Amino acid sequence: MADEQVDVAQVDVAALESWIRRFAAEVAEHRDYLTQLDSPIGDADHGANLNRGMTVVLAALAEPASTTAAALFKRVGMTLVSNVGGASGPLYGTLFLRMATAAGDVESLDGRALAKVLRGGLDGIVARGKAEAGDKTMFDALAPAVDALDAALADHRPLSEALKAAATAAETGRDATTPMLARKGRASYLGERSIGHQDPGATSMALLIGAAAATLGNTSSTNAPSNHTPPTNTPPTNTPPTNTPPTNTPPTNTPSDQD
Ligand code: ADP
Ligand code: MG
Repeated sequence: MADEQVDVAQVDVAALESWIRRFAAEVAEHRDYLTQLDSPIGDADHGANLNRGMTVVLAALAEPASTTAAALFKRVGMTLVSNVGGASGPLYGTLFLRMATAAGDVESLDGRALAKVLRGGLDGIVARGKAEAGDKTMFDALAPAVDALDAALADHRPLSEALKAAATAAETGRDATTPMLARKGRASYLGERSIGHQDPGATSMALLIGAAAATLGNTSSTNAPSNHTPPTNTPPTNTPPTNTPPTNTPPTNTPSDQD
């Protein structure tokens, strides 16, 4: 009973924006770590690169809010392409631009549509950078995440769980880059010496998917009225204490104060 209510979850544009904000916060928090990872097998700029781009993205989000998923992702992608250099700028930019194309002019995405959007982004990274599995790149975190998301949704698991599975797969994929020999990007110049180091791009990609799990997993009622009807076994109106904070539950991860 009540076993097929899994595809009702809808992710609206505000939720997608909170995902982007969360990713920006994660990149800022882990900026130095990402740059350190890029030191032995790169040029020690990945954290700085991405953080610069995401800082401009945050400023771009403060402009009139995007009303469709495509517009939001396009804004993010264009901003990254024009503000982040190196390999990761065009790659992350392409990821978001292809996500925009895959999303289309919609105001919300269900789980399947979200998976399709991420798959489109992954295809964009491949088209741009020609990475394959095992090349020790951001692909190695994103591809298993998208596969895990698809598998969990095909298994009729709720979006929140499916995104958690995707985040776990991204982390596993990230960790699996350590013993790999790099075949793309700067790290590939090191040959055998690239072995034993975690890939910075796979690490930031795991942050992106983790941010999705943290922000998009519980948005099944973002398109519903703010007082989502509680289950019948929940006592409805016993909330008189004056010192109780108001119960309009603004998600902690949505600082969307400029709407
Ligand atoms: P750069 O290497 O130009 O300094 P960054 O340091 O910002 O750029 O990003 C490095 C990351 O980019 C790598 O850790 C890797 O994950 C990713 N990367 C590099 N080349 C490719 C490629 N061809 N396809 C996918 N990802 C790549
Ligand atoms: Mg670098």
